[in-house]
Amino acid sequence: MIVIGGGLAGLAAGVALADSGWRVRLFEQRPFLGGRATSYVLPDGEHVDNCQHVTFGCCTNLEDFYRRVGCADKIRFFDRLVLLDPQGRIGSFQAGYLPAPFHILGSFVSFRPLLFWDKLSIGRGMLDILLHRGKPADSGESSDTSMLEWLKRRGQTDRAINRFWRAVLVSALSEELDRIDVRYGLDVFWKTVLLNRTGYRMGVPAIPLAALYDGCKAEIERRGGEVILRSPVRGLKLEGGQLAGVRFDENREESADAYVFAIPHTALAELLPQSVKQADPSLSNLDKIKSSPITGVHFWFDRVVMDEPFLTLLDTTTQWIFNKTALYADSDADSPDSMTGRQYLQLVISASYDLLQKSREEIIDLCFAEVKHALPKARDAQLLKATVIKEAAATFSPEPGVDRWRPAQATQIPGLFLAGDWTQTGWPATMEGAVRSGYLAAEALLRANGMPRTFLQPDLAPDGFIQMWLGNPGQAKL
Ligand SMILES: Cc1cc2nc3c(=O)[nH]c(=O)nc-3n(C[C@H](O)[C@H](O)[C@H](O)COP(=O)(O)OP(=O)(O)OC[C@H]3O[C@@H](n4cnc5c(N)ncnc54)[C@H](O)[C@@H]3O)c2cc1C
Repeated sequence: MIVIGGGLAGLAAGVALADSGWRVRLFEQRPFLGGRATSYVLPDGEHVDNCQHVTFGCCTNLEDFYRRVGCADKIRFFDRLVLLDPQGRIGSFQAGYLPAPFHILGSFVSFRPLLFWDKLSIGRGMLDILLHRGKPADSGESSDTSMLEWLKRRGQTDRAINRFWRAVLVSALSEELDRIDVRYGLDVFWKTVLLNRTGYRMGVPAIPLAALYDGCKAEIERRGGEVILRSPVRGLKLEGGQLAGVRFDENREESADAYVFAIPHTALAELLPQSVKQADPSLSNLDKIKSSPITGVHFWFDRVVMDEPFLTLLDTTTQWIFNKTALYADSDADSPDSMTGRQYLQLVISASYDLLQKSREEIIDLCFAEVKHALPKARDAQLLKATVIKEAAATFSPEPGVDRWRPAQATQIPGLFLAGDWTQTGWPATMEGAVRSGYLAAEALLRANGMPRTFLQPDLAPDGFIQMWLGNPGQAKL
């Protein structure tokens, strides 16, 4: 069988199918694996992630995938998330002694960037999510309500919206609150904050992203398959309405019993001929799925300017600062940073629509000023170099109603299967969503060939009072 696309979705499908005895040939257009969640070397020799990627305790399929390919120990999990406002007030979220759903309560009550009335309104909103098990009545499938509308209906204060709901959701879903389907927004709080004590724990890779995928190629090859890089698929070969092969440059063709297309929806929309879109109407609406941008800013300082491993900034353009030198410290003792005392920081700005038109110099100036304000030690430090990576189409936009345009992994064309964070997974555009889609594509392909197998992992089980309330976690409808 053939997989097209070596991002997380294609890799998850490829590894699962190889494990099921299929000979997998995976074709990727670029010279490296990982798709959007990858890293590369800049012309000056620096290793940079395409953008910092993080995972959470609730991402059970990504964790399973990392285990399968032998890199689970390269993800460092953190229990404490630290936030800083422009007035220098620090707040943190960390599980205390109480059982779920009250484990974060202690740090929330003492959270300094929010005032009493803000916390009261947030508490009311969280109670609503809790009592309705993450699905309040006005968040139903056909509601088309945005997260912002829902928050306004719940009487949230402006500060609560900006410093809590927005701070969490714009980063988690890469979109502004008025463009987020309320179901995606509420799900974040239900799965990461309320359901159990560990869903909110943040996992950060301790090595550059591309290095996480070394085991994928080995896993596919070990079972007789191949991973072929620098091989863009240019078209489909159809015979009598059936998919008979894929075309590459110089009219080369490859054929197989089945195909998983694991490429971005925009690329697939261009590749699919009209006849295929007509044969399966769910493939004719891919252009209705919109994209949102993320910008990464990379700073190298001549000295240590930050002690925390990462920090969330409130009320600024910069949303996150990651201390890459500290995060890589255990795995890269010989790095130039550890030998020279310099420090590498990576800043993340999700839903960065306002930055798209700005020049790189303007973005660097803006972010450098914010870093100096947030980190006093940066004021005297020398910024050795800086780079900006703008991803205009970083993730699909989880806007209200988007699910109706997301196709299933099995199509109506025999032998044609889809994977990608944008397919129907119930999850937003995340690494977890991509791996889920790959596992679902593998399951659909195996089902169609009369050899059913399950790869999809269950959601993280509820614990504490939630487990008592929902009864048997195995039976819980999450
Ligand atoms: C800047 C940024 C920050 C992000 N931050 C996070 C985060 O912190 N946490 C998180 O969970 N998610 C994050 N994401 C989202 C995450 O990266 C994606 O959801 C996930 O990687 C998507 O995987 P995929 O396999 O579906 O698609 P992709 O990664 O896009 O993979 C598709 C692959 O197909 C290849 N391809 C395309 N066309 C062809 C062709 N014709 N022939 C052969 N190959 C082809 C591409 O080169 C690519 O390798 C972020 C994304 C971006 C861009």
